[in-house]
Amino acid sequence: MEEFNVSDALRAIPSVNEVLDCPEVIYLIERLGRNLVLDSVKLILSDHRTHISNNKQFAAEMQYNDRIFVLEYIVEKLKRKIIEQQESGLKRVINATGIILHTNLGRAPLPDKAVKKMCEVSGGYSNLEFDIESGSRGSRHSHIESLICNITGAESAMIVNNNAAAVYLCLNTIAANKQVVVSRGQQIEIGGGFRIPDIIAQSGAKMVEVGTTNKTRITDYLKAVTDETKAFLKVHTSNYKIVGFTEEVLLHDLVMLGKEKGIIVMEDLGSGCLFDLSKIGLPYEPTVQDSIRYGADIVTFSGDKLLGGPQAGIIAGRRDLISRIKENPISRMVRCDKNTIAAMTAVLYLYMDPDKVVDVIPAIKMMSCNVGDLLECAAELEKMIQSNIGCKIETEIIDDTDEVGGGSLPGVVLSGKAIALSVSGIDANQLQFRLRKSQIPVICRINRDRVLINVRTIDKNDYPTVVEALGKALELSI
Ligand SMILES: *Cc1c(COP(=O)(O)O)cnc(C)c1O
Repeated sequence: MEEFNVSDALRAIPSVNEVLDCPEVIYLIERLGRNLVLDSVKLILSDHRTHISNNKQFAAEMQYNDRIFVLEYIVEKLKRKIIEQQESGLKRVINATGIILHTNLGRAPLPDKAVKKMCEVSGGYSNLEFDIESGSRGSRHSHIESLICNITGAESAMIVNNNAAAVYLCLNTIAANKQVVVSRGQQIEIGGGFRIPDIIAQSGAKMVEVGTTNKTRITDYLKAVTDETKAFLKVHTSNYKIVGFTEEVLLHDLVMLGKEKGIIVMEDLGSGCLFDLSKIGLPYEPTVQDSIRYGADIVTFSGDKLLGGPQAGIIAGRRDLISRIKENPISRMVRCDKNTIAAMTAVLYLYMDPDKVVDVIPAIKMMSCNVGDLLECAAELEKMIQSNIGCKIETEIIDDTDEVGGGSLPGVVLSGKAIALSVSGIDANQLQFRLRKSQIPVICRINRDRVLINVRTIDKNDYPTVVEALGKALELSI
């Protein structure tokens, strides 16, 4: 190859207009608009110029002084850049981790009915805050209130952006500048560095800590009561467990003491279970129904943990308290949009038929899968992998330990099944990376130098997508 000449290479770079006049680029402009394409063309040309000046080797490898070749090269780069831009941002991924309520992957997948309802409502206008009977202003809480009351037995209910907001809003309404009593064993961090004591402090309530990490007794609460005490807050330690020499005050006892002293009892349930998980062989998890039955004045919980719905916080309990909470100006700052309310309404409808819950709420269905079912799933997917790309990949079905995730049911290990993959010449980290970079990313874990495709959290309809992603990952040059 002849000696590389920077000025020849720079001279061969097309002008912006030359690029814009190419038929393929005209097509891009028609689809995406001139401004977006123009910005990308300018960026690519300037990158190319820098590259030539800095990296002679790169330029020497191509026909750097052939104008037509360089133009084609630039157009190709432009197309790739635009595709990349369109594919970045929020998108669907396949969860092959076996962690059901994976917070980083969006927690609970919604039931089909909820997705349909959301499309139906959100694509147009709705009665979000409009009372159809009277033709006047309505409340966005009304759509979920009767459902929650019906399912849980609560007098009243409302919905906000998430459970952290629910806790904050309740405490701000009932205990700002007053005292709220909390056990030292329940001062938890809820994830991402956010802690219950910080949320309490932000609400304006003064936290009074009682008991010790492992033991708190009803007498501790009793001794803490002053004229300033407005609430007892019980936090369900849904994301960790203290075992051994422990004692926690039962909600029922706290309710009795609250009644005697005129103090509001609030329970932050966190995981928000509306369905008795012991019915599907999991350890019993306190339900919202139980908290209401035991007499909690207010219960708060998440919409997208064990409930299996959209991100939301639900507040259920005494009518007089919930009316006050609805009137707090902060409720406006933490309100939900129509998408969430549409999806939540549809999910709650499904709970009206408890016998069907396991089949229709995906998160609960995934929790209910037993090892036998999972082995069948793994065998089916393994067969598809083998018949498509079996010559390039080694597979083995292995036992795996799945989790509910999302800070729910800590310490509960679900027996699962995964397909362990190994490919000669591609190490596990590289394969994991390539699967993550697929058009529909496949997110998976690694164990002992093998990539694990865990089947519990993969919808059967996505098996072909997983196989395709694997095929593409192996095709890439090494
Ligand atoms: C998860 C959790 C929260 C926070 O709920 P988000 O819906 O994630 O805001 C609060 N309290 C408890 C006990 C939790 O487990």
